[in-house]
Amino acid sequence: MKESQGLDPNFLDLSARLGNDPLQVQGAGGNTSIKTGKVMWIKASGKELSNSKDENIFVKIDLDAAKAETYGNGDGSCKDTIIDPSIKLRPSIETTFHAILDWPVVTHTHSVVTLVHAISPEGLAAAESKLEGLPYAIVSYVKPGLPLTRLILEAANPETQILVLKNHGLICCGETVLAVSNLIAEVEKRLAMPERRKSPVNPSPSIVPGYTMSDESWISKDPKALKIVRAGSYYPDHVVFLGPSLTENPTAGRVAFLVENEGIYLKSDSTKSQKAMLRCLSDILLRLPSEWNPEPIGACAEAELMNWDAEKYRQSLDSVK
Ligand SMILES: [Zn+2]
Repeated sequence: MKESQGLDPNFLDLSARLGNDPLQVQGAGGNTSIKTGKVMWIKASGKELSNSKDENIFVKIDLDAAKAETYGNGDGSCKDTIIDPSIKLRPSIETTFHAILDWPVVTHTHSVVTLVHAISPEGLAAAESKLEGLPYAIVSYVKPGLPLTRLILEAANPETQILVLKNHGLICCGETVLAVSNLIAEVEKRLAMPERRKSPVNPSPSIVPGYTMSDESWISKDPKALKIVRAGSYYPDHVVFLGPSLTENPTAGRVAFLVENEGIYLKSDSTKSQKAMLRCLSDILLRLPSEWNPEPIGACAEAELMNWDAEKYRQSLDSVK
C-alpha cells in the first residue's frame, strides 16, 4: 500500500471504503475532496475511489481559482486550476461544488438508499421527515457540473452539511474525516430500506453472441420493475455508462439489452463501471417501495449527458476490466 500523495491516511481510507462499497459508489462515480489552506485535493475525473490507497487518483488544485470558475471565471471544468501543469489528469466534473462548499472534507456518493428516496416525490417527502433535525437540503435535478453547483449554492446555507441531490445522489460535508464518516453513517441509517428478495432467474444461453445473462435479470420478470425501467433512466451515471434507459432490441453494440420474461443481457466484455451501474439499478429497484412512483430524468436530460464532452472523457477512461 502506498500513502498516496502525502494525503491524510484517514481521508484515503474513507475514500477507498466508499469506493469499495457498491451501495455507495459504482465504478468511476462519486468523488471526495479535502482542503488545506488555499489548496484542495479532489479525485480526478474517470478515476475510481476504490483505488484511493493504491494509485495517485487525486489532483491538487487552486481552491480560489476553482471557486472563481463557479462565478464565470473559466469554463467550470477546473482543468486550468491544477497546480502542477505536468499532471495530465483532469479534476472531477463535480469539482466546483466541492470548492464552494466551505467545509474541509466533502464526499459525494451515488448512495443507493439515497437514490431510492431521491428519484420519486414520495421518496423525497419520506427523506425529509427521516432527516429531520440534521442540517440537510434538497437540490433539484440538473446536469452535473456548473449548473448543479449553482443550484447547490442556492439550496445550501453555511450550516448545510448534507445535500440530497434529486435523481443523482448525496453530498456530505464536515470539519474532519471522522465527522463526515459519522455523518454518512447517520444518513445511511436513517434512509435504510429493506431489500426485497429477487425472483429466481433461469440462466439461458445468450441469444446474441458476445452477451451474457446478468445477475440483474430478475428485473425482466417483475412487472413493476419492468415498468419503471421501460419509462426511462433515473440518474446521470446510468446514462453515461449504460446509455439512456435499457434497450429491448437485442442488437449488438449496446452495453445491455432486456428481453421481457427472460433476462437482461450484458456485453461479455463490459467494463467494471458498466457492470456496477446495472447492479446499482437492481439494488435500487429491490429497495423501492411499490407505492413510490419514480420520475425519470427525461429525454432532454439524457441527451444533454450523452453529448457532453466532459462525460466522453470519463467514458474514454473506463477501460475494459
Ligand atoms: Zn455524481
